[in-house]
Amino acid sequence: MSAGLVQAAYIVAALFFILSLAGLSKQESARSGNYYGLAGMTIALIATIFGPESEGFVWIIIAMVIGGGIGIHYAKKVEMTEMPELVAILHSFVGMAAVLVGYNSYIDAPVIASLNPQEAHAAHVIHLVEVFLGVFIGAVTFTGSVVAFGKLRGVISSSPLNLPHKHKLNLAAVVVSTLLMIYFVKADGSMFALILMTLIAFAFGYHLVASIGGADMPVVVSMLNSYSGWAAAAAGFMLANDLLIVTGALVGSSGAILSYIMCKAMNRSFISVIAGGFGQEVVISDDVEQGEHRETSAEEVAEMLKDSKSVIITPGYGMAVAQAQYPVHEITEKLRAQGVNVRFGIHPVAGRLPGHMNVLLAEAKVPYDIVLEMDEINDDLSETDTVLVIGANDTVNPAALEDPNSPIAGMPVLEVWNAKNVIVFKRSMNTGYAGVQNPLFFKENTQMLFGDAKESVDAISKAL
Ligand code: NDP
Repeated sequence: MSAGLVQAAYIVAALFFILSLAGLSKQESARSGNYYGLAGMTIALIATIFGPESEGFVWIIIAMVIGGGIGIHYAKKVEMTEMPELVAILHSFVGMAAVLVGYNSYIDAPVIASLNPQEAHAAHVIHLVEVFLGVFIGAVTFTGSVVAFGKLRGVISSSPLNLPHKHKLNLAAVVVSTLLMIYFVKADGSMFALILMTLIAFAFGYHLVASIGGADMPVVVSMLNSYSGWAAAAAGFMLANDLLIVTGALVGSSGAILSYIMCKAMNRSFISVIAGGFGQEVVISDDVEQGEHRETSAEEVAEMLKDSKSVIITPGYGMAVAQAQYPVHEITEKLRAQGVNVRFGIHPVAGRLPGHMNVLLAEAKVPYDIVLEMDEINDDLSETDTVLVIGANDTVNPAALEDPNSPIAGMPVLEVWNAKNVIVFKRSMNTGYAGVQNPLFFKENTQMLFGDAKESVDAISKAL
């Protein structure tokens, strides 16, 4: 394949990636968005592998078969609830790839023959800066993503790491890395400076994400998505591959926009989150005595639902764990057939991935038009007879509005307590992901339905 043909194929692939992003921005078109992405990546791979700069065809195919095999195996096995972990670990691969490409490009620097000595020197300096920045971004992305993976999987505590002078440590890492970059360029590429910066960047990435508390994890995941895009773009510069630069920039900027939107939705400062919780005071409040909670049964809930004119269901992570979306759809249909107005209220960070609940409900064939965003439904809650909180906790916690010392203070929540009756489906009185107690469970109009959400909803469906 000639260089011109490769460039043309890259332009077509880039267009497919843009169409893919546009498709993924709406539930209805998400499937076609995925197909566009697949088509773009297939074209990109064929053009690169058969392009004039590729060597070692057999090695590439062997690597692709092994990598693809592992990928297919895990993608088939992964549960919907484990998706964020998978995304986080995949981001770490992009980060590591950028580090390796950086080292490779440093050791085996490209030779540009046709330049005069002055231009050649400038190109060399640019190359050194590309290597340094690429390795830095890649290393931060790598360890940051590994920590995010650990937190989401529960092997690392979701509470924020609070080292003394943590912001000064972050600042020192950035300043020292900048000084090392100046030295690296002046010394015409010192391996020592590169290795030292890599170690600092690994530690910096770890610390940055470890310092962020559980409730802010959604923003961290999309932020790492953005970092992985910039790491890929940096690799694109080092490899002089235009498509990688374009794709990396698309991922980097869309991830940054998503992080910004999520910060706004959660009433968090963007700068504070990306700077590892900068400016946040962490107050560990003592366990406040909350009072008594009341329990109910599936049969009682079924009766209550039959007597209701309007019902709002607010799902959360527990619905995903229990895979309760199918029986939830069943009771929705039964109630709608009896003339009850049933709708869903989706919090922007319900579950463990933006859009997690929407995907599950779509999978169970719940009609899109009754699935509303938090802002669209919050005002209607006070005129609602019954709210079913199915496996949600932090996203319906009144402490976010009422307790300024709470780690989730200021985060908008679904104000379910304004409804006439609230039924909370969960297995115990345990806290949610952010690790804070929920005063909702102790309100007078709240009743707890303990047990696995799927079993509880199945029992209600039978009783209906
Ligand atoms: P939470 O994690 O706050 O609460 C989930 C609830 O589900 C728990 O109270 C748990 O209680 C219950 N549960 C778990 N398994 C079951 C089961 N099988 N049957 C019934 N109940 C079950 O979830 P929310 O969706 O309300 O909030 C999301 C949280 O996750 C927020 O803090 C958010 O910041 C964070 N987060 C969100 C991400 C995103 O992008 N959306 C990414 C990362 C984190 P019990 O154990 O008693 O059953």
